[in-house]
Amino acid sequence: MSDCLFCKIVQGTIPARKVFEDEQVVAFHDIQPQAPVHLLVIPKKHIATMNDCEADDAALLGHTLLAAQQVAREAGLADNGYRLVNNCGKDSGQLVFHIHWHILGGEKLAGLNP
Ligand code: 5GP
Repeated sequence: MSDCLFCKIVQGTIPARKVFEDEQVVAFHDIQPQAPVHLLVIPKKHIATMNDCEADDAALLGHTLLAAQQVAREAGLADNGYRLVNNCGKDSGQLVFHIHWHILGGEKLAGLNP
């Protein structure tokens, strides 16, 4: 998609600190890290949100999550764990409408429950 920020990162027209790439997935450092390790994992295919995923995307989504597992392991997060977050839509605070998962770790993260 021509006006999508993350599609431009996929294409290389906007720079990013990539840590992983294969034929279907790219992972790179978040530009405004919210934890000592904050990486983003995205499918190269433009899918706007979780709500836009279709049955045909099942293999791609599974591949993306396994890539996230590998990226987290290579970032040294496997032993202590990490948070994998997908924001979907405006109430979640999604800012970039190209589906992505945040990998957050490297410290004890605040709990999700008050
Ligand atoms: P969302 O709120 O959509 O789930 O998260 C989007 C994330 O993309 C944010 O954490 C934000 O810091 C990150 N981001 C926004 N613009 C850029 C950019 O140009 N490069 C990189 N590497 N990350 C970005």
